[in-house]
Amino acid sequence: MNGDETRTHTALHVVKGAARKVLGTRWTAGTFVNGTHCILTVQLDEKPDDESMSKIEALANQKVSEGALVQVEELSRPEAEKKYGDEIYDLFPVPESIQTLKVVVIPDWNVNACNKEHTRTTGEIRGITLGKWRYRNSRKMLEVPFDVSSG
Ligand SMILES: [Zn+2]
Repeated sequence: MNGDETRTHTALHVVKGAARKVLGTRWTAGTFVNGTHCILTVQLDEKPDDESMSKIEALANQKVSEGALVQVEELSRPEAEKKYGDEIYDLFPVPESIQTLKVVVIPDWNVNACNKEHTRTTGEIRGITLGKWRYRNSRKMLEVPFDVSSG
């Protein structure tokens, strides 16, 4: 990943945390990162309203402004599950063969087993702008496109 993609990927954790707080979304079904652009897909039972989506954007940017530390803990899988439960997992499974997990922790915001690269703080993301979101009723999935500030 280049620098932009590291920032974009880190922003995923921030947007996930914001969506969890506003909509209670728990399960991530997919992520797509390309440069400063990203699409986060999460499971959700009902179509959200625009106000909730604006709130997610505002909360995410508040977290960026805070410059919170992005911590990475390396734990055995049983230890990680004992400490955080299934909160660390997404809908797509971590293969059973992987027994040591890197757990990314943004305190009181997001915990996620993730072996990708991250910025040291949320401040390095600089800013997050949500694009036109889409809710797929048949799949109960919410797609949240966003961009991080470039340059
Ligand atoms: Zn990550």
